[in-house]
Amino acid sequence: MNALIIIDVQYDFLPGGALAVNHGDEIVQTINDLQSEYDLVVATQDWHPRGHKSFFTSHPNKIPFEEISLNGLNQVLWPEHCIQGTKGAELVPELLTNAVEAIFRKGMDKEIDSYSGFFDNGRKKSTGMADYLKGRGVTEVAVCGVAADFCVYYTANDALDLGFKSSIITRAAKPIDRERYERVKKDFQLKGGTVI
Ligand SMILES: [Zn+2]
Repeated sequence: MNALIIIDVQYDFLPGGALAVNHGDEIVQTINDLQSEYDLVVATQDWHPRGHKSFFTSHPNKIPFEEISLNGLNQVLWPEHCIQGTKGAELVPELLTNAVEAIFRKGMDKEIDSYSGFFDNGRKKSTGMADYLKGRGVTEVAVCGVAADFCVYYTANDALDLGFKSSIITRAAKPIDRERYERVKKDFQLKGGTVI
């Protein structure tokens, strides 16, 4: 049984949004077309409280994309994005969601960021997605969405660690930083992941 995991197709991550991924809007149709090829489709939604520590505005004298150490973990400081209940946090209406059986929200803990759809960045708390997929008999996942070099990669990588066969669908994913994306794709493949 295989599953498609659609990562963070939200207003704030697409052009015009607070943390826009270039050309992110161009993959939505591809993601829609892919859905029927999978036994199960799930999605994630970045869902931060106001004052989240991943926002540069939560730290004095910091600028967007600066990196700091946050509770012992490296943290890129982002513009405020995907705040709970705001339009920016909504999945875009162009994304077909009829076949999406469950949506896993992440990033609710103010103190820690959550790139992966499975765990926070310290792997302290699970979103429940792994148990859900395993409970449905899923052994293989394919990951798409935005941003390819952060949340898509972290999710696909955690899937490997959790014992799933895992792939990143590059035609249905767009990165923030192309060089970083090339690097993480190589790491992912070395670890046993597939890049389609
Ligand atoms: Zn976020």
